[in-house]
Amino acid sequence: MADFDVIVVGAGVAGCTAAYKLASEGLEVLLVERASEPGSKNLSGGIFYGRVLPDLIPGFYDEAPIERRITRNVIAFTREGDAFNIDYSNRSYAGEGGEPANGFSVLRAKLDMWLAEKAEEAGASLVPGICVEDFVTEGGVVKGIVAVGEEMTADCVIVADGINSKLTEKLGQRSGFGFHDMGVGVKYLYSLPEEVINDRFRCVSGEGVAYGIMGDVSEGIPGGGFLYTNQDTVSVGLVVHVDHLAESGKRPYDVLDHMVSNPEIAKLLEGAELVEYGAHMVAEGGAANLPASICGDGWMIVGDAAGFAANNGFTVRGMDFAAMSGLLAAEAAIEAKARGDWSKAALASYQQKVDASFIKKDMDTYSDAPSFMKDERVYDELVGMICSIFEGVYKQDGTPKRNMLSILLDAVKGSGLKFVQLGKLGLKAVRNL
Ligand SMILES: Cc1cc2nc3c(=O)[nH]c(=O)nc-3n(C[C@H](O)[C@H](O)[C@H](O)COP(=O)(O)OP(=O)(O)OC[C@H]3O[C@@H](n4cnc5c(N)ncnc54)[C@H](O)[C@@H]3O)c2cc1C
Repeated sequence: MADFDVIVVGAGVAGCTAAYKLASEGLEVLLVERASEPGSKNLSGGIFYGRVLPDLIPGFYDEAPIERRITRNVIAFTREGDAFNIDYSNRSYAGEGGEPANGFSVLRAKLDMWLAEKAEEAGASLVPGICVEDFVTEGGVVKGIVAVGEEMTADCVIVADGINSKLTEKLGQRSGFGFHDMGVGVKYLYSLPEEVINDRFRCVSGEGVAYGIMGDVSEGIPGGGFLYTNQDTVSVGLVVHVDHLAESGKRPYDVLDHMVSNPEIAKLLEGAELVEYGAHMVAEGGAANLPASICGDGWMIVGDAAGFAANNGFTVRGMDFAAMSGLLAAEAAIEAKARGDWSKAALASYQQKVDASFIKKDMDTYSDAPSFMKDERVYDELVGMICSIFEGVYKQDGTPKRNMLSILLDAVKGSGLKFVQLGKLGLKAVRNL
């Protein structure tokens, strides 16, 4: 008999959600984490969208370490010397009348620790500070894990070890992430008093704003910035494509330093103290970069390890995919336990659940987003054109005003893009984002 029903490798959002659900349903679960404390190695921007965790964990909003409910979203197009913002507020995003919030800001060190504790409270055994090296297998069937030379057995192993998943490679489902499918995210955390954040970002305590930032901030490297308000800190970061970053010869922190020196961003951070910084890889390959399979005899792959993420410039999403896939894998394992069958055929219900969920549907919707997001013209010519239009609209320099059509034509001409190219780019944007 195996030591556990299920061993979950990795106490990030995906692994903790899976362990919580499994333990809540009475399964024997071991949750193994390589960091000395869950969350201490993990990084997000991070806005946690959707309702997976609030629906799953009773009293979520009363207990969880949520920073602010996001009720305002800003997209900032920046050029040297000017910027154009789209500013969207929605009261209902706070989650009025018992409805969950649309999204909330989190800090992973706090959130992952809390989630791991919830899994423990539900009955899971948490073992931090252990790096899983390999699987125990018998005739191609996964029967457990190997960590620090010791074997621990289980009927099923849930692989939740994040983007650079060595275990997915060991299963033969991926041959390592290529340069082209990866972004690198760098982030600074600034401390500011809660009241200053409320005044500066026009929000009340408990509610906040999320900025997506595109244009010269990434110094011509495809990617974009973010600025998210927490209770008394502000998360500021940048996600850029690794291959383009390597070609540029720049270091990610230098690009982030350039971004925070932009006057539009610097004024939001005035007087703030840098208290933390970090970097992490981000899955940018989209639907084309999923593993060969996400389940097999005695194993399932969830979260970033499976490449579940969607970044369309407006939002960076990975945590909601991680939580949902962790939950669906747990449901498949609960069914497998009831039938006493942990074969690939039995665990295929995990794949079916993923296919029927927002994970597969959203990854399909944004399947071409990576190719759009890597188009350098978006960050330079397109953003420049948008700024030029509004420069023309507001400029009063003593010369006769031109009508909107003439301003528009000039902006397009100035961008260097031909109308056909612009039309194609615009069409690609509305189709893929
Ligand atoms: C800069 C940046 C900004 C982002 N912004 C957002 C955002 O705003 N919203 C959003 O939804 N998503 C965002 N993401 C993406 C999001 O962070 C990920 O999609 C999410 O963290 C995936 O969760 P996970 O549990 O699958 O993996 P992870 O959070 O990476 O967790 C994996 C865990 O496995 C552990 N582990 C790894 N190997 C082993 C091993 N061999 N043995 C034991 N343990 C192991 C790790 O220590 C870690 O705890 C962002 C990412 C970055 C980098």
